[in-house]
Amino acid sequence: MPKEIRITPIKNGTVIDHLNAGSSYKILEVLNLRENSITVAINAESRKMGKKDIIFIQERELNEKELAKIALIGKGATVNIIANGEIKNKTILGYPEKVEEIIKCINPKCVTNNETLKTKFYITAEPLEAKCFYCETRMNEEEIAASIKK
Ligand SMILES: [Zn+2]
Repeated sequence: MPKEIRITPIKNGTVIDHLNAGSSYKILEVLNLRENSITVAINAESRKMGKKDIIFIQERELNEKELAKIALIGKGATVNIIANGEIKNKTILGYPEKVEEIIKCINPKCVTNNETLKTKFYITAEPLEAKCFYCETRMNEEEIAASIKK
């Protein structure tokens, strides 16, 4: 039986750990990491979660926008910055209070879908909801995940 995967496969870069099992597909879809060397563990054994996904990204740190995208898909994920094979920094992702230019509004009549305006949403938790700053349309977890910009 495979043992729990430890954070060691990369020397420098970022490890996104404790992702809900299966959520790594969506995360890789919305992050632009085509240039990076990536290792993904899907349905890895986890004592805490039963099963989890882990994404190992070589030689790359993530910016605020990328972290917000990950948080909206996988709240509670852990982001570890690895330098010289050691964890330099560890953050547990919570929901951002507001996000700009990250989600597309589902209301086709929204001004952001008809003019070149940056989208802006307020985020509330439990249950996860995003409210459009412009048209006040509310989006649930599923709608948010489907509307995250690539
Ligand atoms: Zn809107």
